[in-house]
Amino acid sequence: MKQKLFSEKNYSKKCTNCAYGTLTDDKMNVLCQKKGVKEPDDFCRKYKYDPLKRVPQKITLRSDYTAEDFML
Ligand code: SF4
Repeated sequence: MKQKLFSEKNYSKKCTNCAYGTLTDDKMNVLCQKKGVKEPDDFCRKYKYDPLKRVPQKITLRSDYTAEDFML
C-alpha cells in the first residue's frame, strides 16, 4: 500500500516533481540545480522523483446524499 501511494509510476515526469527543481513563486518556471530555468512540464534525463513535491489530486464530495444513505 505504502509503495503504491508514493510510487513514481503513478505520476508523470515533470520538473515540478523533480528533486532538483524548485517552483518559482509565480508558478510559471522551475529553477533547476542541473539545467537552470525550465518550464514546469519539462523534464530531462536527470529527473529524480521527489514524493514530497507531489500535489495530491483534489477530492470532490458528492452533495446529493440523503438521510437513507446513512441508515443501517
Ligand atoms: S530539468 Fe531535469 S533535473 Fe532539472 S528539474 Fe527538470 S527534470 Fe529535474
